[in-house]
Amino acid sequence: MARGFPFPRKKKPADDFGGEEPAEERPVGPASAGDEEDAFESTLRPQRFEDFVGQPRVLENLRVYVKAAMKRGEALDHILLSGPPGLGKTTLAKIVANEMNVEFHGTSAPALKKPGDLVGLLTSLPERTVLFIDEVHRLSAALEEYLYSAMEDFYIDLTVDQGAAARPIRFQLKPFTLVAATTRDGLLSRPFQDRFGIPQKLNFYSPADLTKIVLRSSKILGIETEAAAAGEIAARARKTPRIANRLLRRLRDWAEVEGEGRLTVAIAQKGLDREGVDASGLDQMDRRILQALAQHKGQPVGVKTVAVMVGEESDTIEEVYEPFLIQEGYVLKTPRGRVLSAKGYEHLGLKPIEPKLGGDETSSLF
Ligand code: ADP
Repeated sequence: MARGFPFPRKKKPADDFGGEEPAEERPVGPASAGDEEDAFESTLRPQRFEDFVGQPRVLENLRVYVKAAMKRGEALDHILLSGPPGLGKTTLAKIVANEMNVEFHGTSAPALKKPGDLVGLLTSLPERTVLFIDEVHRLSAALEEYLYSAMEDFYIDLTVDQGAAARPIRFQLKPFTLVAATTRDGLLSRPFQDRFGIPQKLNFYSPADLTKIVLRSSKILGIETEAAAAGEIAARARKTPRIANRLLRRLRDWAEVEGEGRLTVAIAQKGLDREGVDASGLDQMDRRILQALAQHKGQPVGVKTVAVMVGEESDTIEEVYEPFLIQEGYVLKTPRGRVLSAKGYEHLGLKPIEPKLGGDETSSLF
């Protein structure tokens, strides 16, 4: 299926902040995905609820709704999955289809341009199909409106021909379940959000759950991974399964060359250091973002400025990097822009500078 994150290729940073960075720049963050990466991910993708680690609340809710819909022999209500990339939205959509024993069809919003694309797709779906639309916040307002009647009453009215000959045609659809995924639920209109009976937010994973995921992936890939090595990867994977799996893949090479196939904690530490992933799990782009904010010495900075300074798209910064940096308290988001927190300065080995926000905001931040 269409990959979820057609993010632009990483550009060279506009500003070199120096420091000890690995000579070769190979992205490990969530911003890159290719065919090989897709194949790797699908090998590791859990197929059933019982294989899915973590997110207990989301899992429990989905289990109940799936069971109830199956009992009634109906299509499951529409689901909206939100959360940062790599947390398991696509995986859950596929699991729901597997558990319901129905077809899965995946696409992403940027692939749907005209109403005809949507009608063509929806009319071709067998009954009760799980239709997965990734990046649904990128859907045009016009297409979003066509989806309303499709979601509520399973029809779409489309106007065909033009001028005097223009007439509406009603396309009747078979009941289906829309599973939409977004990294930016704040960008979805209220009426659209309201049409999802089952909205679920995915959270970052605990180190214990990520360790389980790394051990599970190691087993599938046939890598002998020490529990402590899995813990090391889990601690440095930005609380994200996709990154944990990617790091494991990189470390497999290190284990083969330096550990006779066994991934020890020493090899994991060395490999992760070489990959540019520091002890807190921040990668090169994370550190560049912190550096860019530090250069403004407490003045709030807009995301566009940060984007130019680090050579990355501002959408990618907001959707991929910031959620973790904010949740972990490295970056503070204020109405005037981003500022570095005391923890952020300390991470760079710098003395914290009070944010220059004016008014009473400062005292509540530091
Ligand atoms: P998203 O759609 O949110 O970007 P994906 O569902 O594509 O994320 O997950 C990325 C990768 O992480 C998948 O290959 C999957 O194997 C792995 N993964 C995600 N969540 C879990 C989980 N809870 N348990 C095990 N593996 C997971």
